[in-house]
Amino acid sequence: MEDCLFCKIANGRIPGTIVYNEKGVVAFKDLHPAAPHHILIIPEKHIASAVELTAEDGPLLGELFAASVKIAQDLGLAEPERGYRLVTNIGPDAGQSVQHLHFHLLGGRPLGWPPG
Ligand code: AMP
Ligand code: ZN
Repeated sequence: MEDCLFCKIANGRIPGTIVYNEKGVVAFKDLHPAAPHHILIIPEKHIASAVELTAEDGPLLGELFAASVKIAQDLGLAEPERGYRLVTNIGPDAGQSVQHLHFHLLGGRPLGWPPG
């Protein structure tokens, strides 16, 4: 989509530190990391947020989660004694600032709960 920051990162028009690019899923480092490891995982296809997902997006969601597991394994976060968080913000109350579906993968430190 024109004028979408994450579409531009996914198609290479804006630079990003891409760590995964397979099967319609792109993942790149967050510009302002909130944890030692902070990766954003997005579909190549523009979807504004998780509230737009339907059952037809099941295969795409499978690929997004498969990507998250691969990335967590590569970072050593999938080990039983480690761990990480996957989170997606939806709308203003949740603080969504980029209107293209993305999952934050956060890890590398103990993560507090509940989030702010
Ligand atoms: P959210 O607030 O859930 O919509 O998350 C958007 C995330 O995008 C934030 O964590 C920002 O730090 C991150 N971000 C904004 N611009 C960029 C960029 N150009 N490259 C990488 N991450 C970005
Ligand atoms: Zn987009």
